[in-house]
Amino acid sequence: MRTSALLAAAAILAAVRLLLQIVVARLPARLSGQVQSQLREHLISAFLQASWSEKAKEKEGHLQELMGGQTYQSGAAVLQLANGLSAALMFLTLAASAFILSPGVAAAVLGTAVALFGGLRPLSRRVRNSSASTSAALVAQASGVAESVRMAEEVQVFGATETERSRISSLVQSLEMHIIRTKTLIAIVPVLYQGAVIALIVAGLAILYAVGTSRLAALGAVVLLLVRASAYGQQLQTSYQGLGEALPYLDRLTSTIERYLANAQRRGDRPIDFVRTVEFESVSFAYKPGLSVLRDITFSIRTGEAIGVVGPSGAGKSTLVQILLRLREPSSGRYLVNQVTAEDIDDATWQRKVAYLPQEPHLLAGTVAENIRFYRDWVGDDLIASSAKLAHIDSDIMTWANGYHTVIGQRADAVSGGQRQRLCLARALAGNPEFLILDEPTSALDSQSEHLIQESLEGLRGKLTLVVIAHRLTTIRLCDRVMVIRDGLLEAFAPAELLYGSNDFYRNAIDLAALGRPI
Ligand code: ADP
Repeated sequence: MRTSALLAAAAILAAVRLLLQIVVARLPARLSGQVQSQLREHLISAFLQASWSEKAKEKEGHLQELMGGQTYQSGAAVLQLANGLSAALMFLTLAASAFILSPGVAAAVLGTAVALFGGLRPLSRRVRNSSASTSAALVAQASGVAESVRMAEEVQVFGATETERSRISSLVQSLEMHIIRTKTLIAIVPVLYQGAVIALIVAGLAILYAVGTSRLAALGAVVLLLVRASAYGQQLQTSYQGLGEALPYLDRLTSTIERYLANAQRRGDRPIDFVRTVEFESVSFAYKPGLSVLRDITFSIRTGEAIGVVGPSGAGKSTLVQILLRLREPSSGRYLVNQVTAEDIDDATWQRKVAYLPQEPHLLAGTVAENIRFYRDWVGDDLIASSAKLAHIDSDIMTWANGYHTVIGQRADAVSGGQRQRLCLARALAGNPEFLILDEPTSALDSQSEHLIQESLEGLRGKLTLVVIAHRLTTIRLCDRVMVIRDGLLEAFAPAELLYGSNDFYRNAIDLAALGRPI
């Protein structure tokens, strides 16, 4: 009866132990998963808060790699820490038992073991350095692959497939070399540790044997405990090396997050009613200190005006547009809207008033309607339809299989260049902007699409303030006044007909444009 009760108790205890072990095993896994999620969310939110100049510097594939593999590796730090802690506890428990049995011997061997831990530190440092190189090689590979995907069409057309393959292959080989080095170091250190501890125990025993001891039985128990302790010591070393491997990934993540946050977009809080005046007061801008690409630019635009911006390539037109959009801040001088410093204007208000059509706009992988709405929940279906009509894309959409619900993608095969441009013009118009900025919307378009966009812009004239970088005569004709930017200077700013008589660059450009050449 007693035996069966004992057996039952043992069975219950075994079940409870199993259950506890499962719970305990889940803990580090959960913790690691949560740490990874938090790191990913911090990273993406820091990136989204960063200024455009910081975002524009981001190497392609870098952020994707950080969000994926690098965060996963960082999460391993938590697991290694948990393993290390449990090994350290077991190690200390066993060491304490050995201490009770024979303080002298245990202290001598443990002291040497700890010294060994210290002695192996240079190797641990090499693990960290090697892991940092692996992390960098992973980033380099991700950037290389991202470029490969972006350039896939050109690579195929120019017959560069083999060169591309060997370029990526050398990145893969370099990564392999770093992985092998890191993993070998990680495997070697605990083995060295274990080997040295055993050698020390044996050497210690040999010394004791040589000097002669009467307490052999107690010594046997101490040795047993120390051998077990050294196994935990090895586990501790393994975790320590694993941590050393994970930390460079964590370092890269945290330093990237810090860089984004240190370069966060300035947030404004001044409200404005509607865009009445847009002014530059002696604005200069330099990408690199001392190298101004815009110099001392002053102008004033009134509401409802259509302004053309012309100038040779590299003159600073796109930079000027980026400042107008508040994507970049002047290095000196002031950008004022309604006499308020533009950067101080409340962001939500500003974003509702300003819209932009870049030269090469991007499509989301989603439906036509989602592409026009572009995350703005307040843009209803009626606005989507009316802006599509204004942008002359509505009749094209109606011919697509599912109309506004047709799924189009980033590389949208179903959408031509001209249709993409008109879809993105609809996107820009869907928010009913007061200030619309366009970077030559008709360059590289077929004449039918060019004509349709011109018609749309014609319809918008006077209804909003328009600034357009113009490479075509037809676009210039829409403009009330034209700015000529050359070498970062505002050379002239006047109605087109006056400029023809007074500005050499403009006259030459228009004469060439009349022959069908872009300005
Ligand atoms: P445009 O639009 O008239 O062709 P940009 O405004 O693009 O001229 O460029 C003006 C000058 O600034 C050029 O010399 C260009 O090389 C330089 N530039 C443009 N973007 C950057 C950048 N992100 N970093 C450094 N220099 C840049």
